[in-house]
Amino acid sequence: MSRPTEDTYRHQGLRRKLVQALHKKGISDDRVLDALLEVPRHFFLDSAFDEVAYEDRAFPIGEGQTISQPYTVAYQSQLLEASPEMRILEVGTGSAYQAVVLAEMGLEVFTIERQKKLYDANQEFNFLKRYNTIHFNYGDGYEGLPELAPFDRVLITAAAPFIPPSLVAQLKTGGMMVLPVGEGDVQEMMRLTKMEDGSIKEEVFDRFSFVPMVKGKNE
Ligand code: SAH
Repeated sequence: MSRPTEDTYRHQGLRRKLVQALHKKGISDDRVLDALLEVPRHFFLDSAFDEVAYEDRAFPIGEGQTISQPYTVAYQSQLLEASPEMRILEVGTGSAYQAVVLAEMGLEVFTIERQKKLYDANQEFNFLKRYNTIHFNYGDGYEGLPELAPFDRVLITAAAPFIPPSLVAQLKTGGMMVLPVGEGDVQEMMRLTKMEDGSIKEEVFDRFSFVPMVKGKNE
């Protein structure tokens, strides 16, 4: 993969336009919009995508996976209602774009990827070295990171066929988890809140289409 390394005025202008479009589509959280304005999305893609990197679309990143659509990244980030310093577990590092958006929002990010090749690619992605608040893990997101739990927030960026119980267990009291749930081509965005009495409040939002959350690691 050959990555672009320059963030030109042209890229910055396209990024501003994209963020304005997301605002029009209903993203109103300034911390989310500011983070999307900061992060050079074209760095997360092969140079072949340079022309289209700021279109509101998902793109292939290898291993049959995709970088999420900017609207989806913004939507999930907004639903988190996160504040700086919170610790968040992200399932599905992929391109690491979402992880960097969360880091720009001031969060401490613990991210897991099951595809070894994608995990390795991020180890060699120099731009990520400036983010010492992102911790990269190779493993199965269904298991989470019990040794580092509990988390203030959990974000799943792949389609979960069901709500993973071990991830609910790794949530703090008062903590929230945002995830797309469904087995078909389309999933419902859900937000779970762990209440004081241990019960889980469930809210359902719009429909999205994610790549599936798959059990186990892939070498
Ligand atoms: N957050 C990513 C989205 C990538 S798509 C981004 O911003 O680019 C979803 C990712 O979830 C894929 O890379 C896929 O390999 C990964 N994934 C799917 N099931 C997983 C699991 N059980 N554990 C960890 N990662 C998983």
